[in-house]
Amino acid sequence: MSDAALLMKVRAALKTVATPKGGDLVTSGAVEGLSATSDGVVRFTLNAERAGGDPETVLGAARAAAGAVPGVARVAAVATAHRKPAAGGHDNPLGLKKESRIEAAAKELKDVRNVIAVASGKGGVGKSTVAANLAVALARRGLKVGLLDADIYGPSLPTLFGLSGRPEMRGEKIAPVEKFGLRMMSIGLLVNEDQALAWRGPLVMGALRQLISDVDWGALDVLIVDTPPGTGDAHLTLVQSKLLTGAVIVSTPQEMALADVRRGVELFKKVNVPIIGIVENMAFLDDGKGGRNYLFGKGGAERAAADLGVPFLGALPIYPDLRVASDEGVPVAIRNPAAPEAQAFERLAATISGGFIR
Ligand code: ADP
Repeated sequence: MSDAALLMKVRAALKTVATPKGGDLVTSGAVEGLSATSDGVVRFTLNAERAGGDPETVLGAARAAAGAVPGVARVAAVATAHRKPAAGGHDNPLGLKKESRIEAAAKELKDVRNVIAVASGKGGVGKSTVAANLAVALARRGLKVGLLDADIYGPSLPTLFGLSGRPEMRGEKIAPVEKFGLRMMSIGLLVNEDQALAWRGPLVMGALRQLISDVDWGALDVLIVDTPPGTGDAHLTLVQSKLLTGAVIVSTPQEMALADVRRGVELFKKVNVPIIGIVENMAFLDDGKGGRNYLFGKGGAERAAADLGVPFLGALPIYPDLRVASDEGVPVAIRNPAAPEAQAFERLAATISGGFIR
């Protein structure tokens, strides 16, 4: 839900920030797409060309002003204007090969036939769980599958697949970790958690570029990319790369999660990335007596899909064993392929590979 009162306060705060070009951030039109949710999340895009000066400095000032408004819990903001590569190694956070622009990075994936982003408006809706089990289910269908954990601030692939240790190098490139028939890479395997947490826009974008271009993905039918929640730098990077075949959006049924889903769908639509569809996760809990408990409301994601004119890919109930399997580092689609949860992912994989995988 958006919060009009909070939005006004944030706008007023941004109006107090002077731009290097003269005037303030709001009047100059440098702040675009400003929104504030009732849980205090403020989002905007800084048009750095309109503001002038160094985009990161202006963005920092804008973030600080918005973040100081009482009631603001988090500020998610990016600068859009094209910026020169920073001298301080911003574009090479992993310290590997020299920085390449995202279009160049994308060329390195020439043998990857499809790239599918798995996205969600919010964290904790099961995006990573869906991405991981979908990848396993696609591999079980005989496809060559890669899984890239691009959730820079909350990588979960090492836990989901029980991976640890640093990956090996193969010449100048990083060898993906191979397990359960998948090729996988996660920022969590390359840097320490607190190091990645300190990264802001350009570093996040640089890291993702390197996960694309400096990992020896080889030939793949499909690369599944587990993106961070919301829409931010990582999504912009993927969109700019023109790599994406499509996006799968994961949501729980409740209203709060759906407002963010709408924003995500709009982002991908605006840049002509096809929405493969919405998966409703944690849709209900089986009561063991044939009944269903709709803990988060009924059918919200399905209605949102209909409203937004995008396909509905199905509902996944709450499976208590799914969480256990994830925590143990063996995806359920591997541990027990006959389990209903594994079957549900097989169906999802069948739907997606039928329509989207070339
Ligand atoms: P996200 O990537 O959206 O932050 P995760 O995939 O990490 O979410 O899932 C959050 C938690 O919910 C994890 O503990 C996961 O095991 C659990 N989970 C996800 N989907 C389900 C489901 N359908 N049934 C039961 N637990 C689930």
